[in-house]
Amino acid sequence: NAPLSEVDPEIAAVLRDELGRQRDTLEMIASENFAPRAVLEAQGSVLTNKYAEGYPGRRYYGGCEYVDVAENLAIDRVKALFGAEFANVQPHSGAQANAAALSAMIKPGDKIMGLSLAHGGHLTHGMKLNFSGKLYAVAAYGVEEDTHRLDMDRVREQALAERPDVLIAGWSAYPRQLDFAAFRSIADEVGALLWTDMAHFAGLVAAGVHPNPVPHSDVVTSTVHKTLAGPRSGVILAKQEWAKKLNSSVFPGQQGGPLMHVIAGKATAFRIAGSAEFRERQERVLEGARIIAERLTGPDVAEHGVSVLTGGTDVHLVLVDLRNSSLDGQQAEDVLHSVGITVNRNAVPFDPRPPMVTSGLRIGTPALATRGFGAAEFTEVGEIIAAALKPAPDVDALRARVTALTADFPLYPGQEEW
Ligand code: PLP
Repeated sequence: NAPLSEVDPEIAAVLRDELGRQRDTLEMIASENFAPRAVLEAQGSVLTNKYAEGYPGRRYYGGCEYVDVAENLAIDRVKALFGAEFANVQPHSGAQANAAALSAMIKPGDKIMGLSLAHGGHLTHGMKLNFSGKLYAVAAYGVEEDTHRLDMDRVREQALAERPDVLIAGWSAYPRQLDFAAFRSIADEVGALLWTDMAHFAGLVAAGVHPNPVPHSDVVTSTVHKTLAGPRSGVILAKQEWAKKLNSSVFPGQQGGPLMHVIAGKATAFRIAGSAEFRERQERVLEGARIIAERLTGPDVAEHGVSVLTGGTDVHLVLVDLRNSSLDGQQAEDVLHSVGITVNRNAVPFDPRPPMVTSGLRIGTPALATRGFGAAEFTEVGEIIAAALKPAPDVDALRARVTALTADFPLYPGQEEW
């Protein structure tokens, strides 16, 4: 029963160093967050020891009486949170939720149509090296070249031409809300099922600060670890008529034993996501993104070729457009890293630079909002980013400003180690 620091000092050092990194820098990767201590406790627990193939009350293993309680709580809470008739909380990840959802809805060779990867879609929406691109015929719609937004009339035209079996709404990098009613009506018109992947914006939906795709969609998938701030994992929501197909598609279709420690963490995360504190936090997520977008559309950065796709945001992320800047996405990511801000470079639609370099940055506010940041702190973050993206930034001075912010908002206070 020796502790990690004795059994494996090398891995203990990784945990210590990573905790230090998370504490001492500003985490602005749009798909990341800080799971609360309560969720980490559930995840790092004896529930990892338990095999529980099957579903609550119908397991293929004995001794499932307590893990059944956890899974039922997770199911009931996530259904209530999103107003869903059915939930499966077993997917190990967002990608696995998506694989299970597609295999329940269609058969290999059928056609899917989602937002192109180059315009902000996800790998699992039809990328050729992914299962989705290998198993299914793929068509894609894209954003408009002048506005960088979806034009639903054009999506409709393309859907009428392509006749997909599944129309996909959802994205990994798009700074605006989707029109789910329009997606529904297009799906109905072309005889497609509508699958929404709300992995990125699920936390905003849970808080009621973003439209809910559940009433419009046949199936909705999500991750639990992005804006939702839970353990790394996935979930599927649907109308009741899909229950049997989806359950059998997850187990035994895609997975074996569910990760009961993660499912317990999901239950806790869903409970927190229903709280007034969570709602208030998502409002700060949106406010922070708006503040940063506004700062990065200022004339002083425009002069150096820095702007924001679509001119702003109404979600938790900002897409910085560097096509006219001498900095490419890689260089911009590196300079922000040097001042203590972690972001990821991201191709912009119609990007002239290669995918490993890119002409964009994706900057997200969920993790910093979880850390407690509000309008004043996001204003300061916007100033730091704007200064870093101009020529010859004073890296040491900007790093000191980042350190001041991290010191004012301690992460996991009181926690000596993990
Ligand atoms: N769906 C979308 C829209 C995503 O952005 C992501 C993750 O980036 C996923 C699915 C996949 O989630 P995971 O990384 O848990 O497999």
